[in-house]
Amino acid sequence: MDDYNIGDLITIKTENTDYTGTIMPSLDENIIVIKMKNGYNIGISKNKIKSIELINKGEKPTYKLPPLEIEKKEDLKNISILSTGGTVASRVDYNTGAVHPAFTADDLIRAVPELLDIANINSKAVLNILSENMTPTYWKMIAEEIKKEIENGADGIVIAHGTDTMHYTASALSFMIDADVPIVLVGAQRSSDRPSSDAALNLISAVIASTQPIKGVYVVMHGESGDTFCYLHEGVKVRKSHSSRRDAFKSINNIPVAKINPFTKEIEYLRDIKKSEGKNIAINTNLEEKVALIKIYPGIDGNIINYYVDNGYKGIVIEGTGLGHTPETIFENIKYATDNGVLVAMATQTINGRINMNVYSNGRELQKLGVIGCEDMLPEVALVKMMYLLGNYDIEKAKELMNKNLVGEITEISRFDSY
Ligand code: ASP
Repeated sequence: MDDYNIGDLITIKTENTDYTGTIMPSLDENIIVIKMKNGYNIGISKNKIKSIELINKGEKPTYKLPPLEIEKKEDLKNISILSTGGTVASRVDYNTGAVHPAFTADDLIRAVPELLDIANINSKAVLNILSENMTPTYWKMIAEEIKKEIENGADGIVIAHGTDTMHYTASALSFMIDADVPIVLVGAQRSSDRPSSDAALNLISAVIASTQPIKGVYVVMHGESGDTFCYLHEGVKVRKSHSSRRDAFKSINNIPVAKINPFTKEIEYLRDIKKSEGKNIAINTNLEEKVALIKIYPGIDGNIINYYVDNGYKGIVIEGTGLGHTPETIFENIKYATDNGVLVAMATQTINGRINMNVYSNGRELQKLGVIGCEDMLPEVALVKMMYLLGNYDIEKAKELMNKNLVGEITEISRFDSY
């Protein structure tokens, strides 16, 4: 093995199988890691290797490239891409094996040169985390960075984000930011070093969206599994709805805002848009973090609610069954919460459709206990909204606003489809 270097293309023969791929950095000296043609990395223990055949000597990739000299084009909008991490934003440094955000403007433009025809790109790595590690504190940090960029002249913002919790961040930014420009979150299900990567098309589409005369917070991702178009989803009406498909993000209980063709750069609006009227930006990052989301299931132990109440939680969103129900066995726990001044709201775990707590006596009982129905708001959005309301208002006002539409999170008439 010592005769081979990172970047070399080799075939490793083990007792049962041959593996062909490019040598990657390995953190364990007893394991050789190769990236195979299908994009997956595989680690093979040196003691299982019968022989290695060199197919091609590779070049060690280097990222210390000279700065690009790009002239700002007067007729193009100025777009800031803020990266927070996740698959869309990462690259492996072949010298060290470390994963870095690839988001200096130069790195981005080298990877996706088409961006130069769409906008003047400025970029910054704000965080470098997988989005499962996102927190409300980071949401605030992102909101503050967006404000700075807009005040410094950005006409639109793209946030590169891990997909797992992108819809929570989109919701948080929707409530915290009142901006006259588009703020577009974008992710990728497959990283850019895989042949099936969706990163470039998603990014191109997000930048196209960020140059439009619209305002608000959106998510852009593949519209179908093929490389054909992307959807522009409203930030408070979208959800990661598949663990691996490239079109994992679906607008729920509403249709997407627009269809974006990354090849022709055309955008087709599917519903009324919120027109941008200037470049004002105001943020309110007050959030009450002691808010919980509880999923109902047969046999649930209601003491989980007491736990939250006794630990100082100010609000609980229940992801109830069907039209907004819980087992009767936990009514007393819910009463304990509302009697102690905790705001309790109900969203449905069916995801599609809306709450109606007037149909069955169960729902009516829950209303009597003070539970507020969240109409057709997604449970994740209800959680973030409750954090926002309890961070800014007293419980009575928060209760009053919980089932009123503030930023598009509740639609008056349900559309039962997801797109
Ligand atoms: N787990 C990753 C994340 O959400 C997946 C991705 O980047 O899409 O950050």
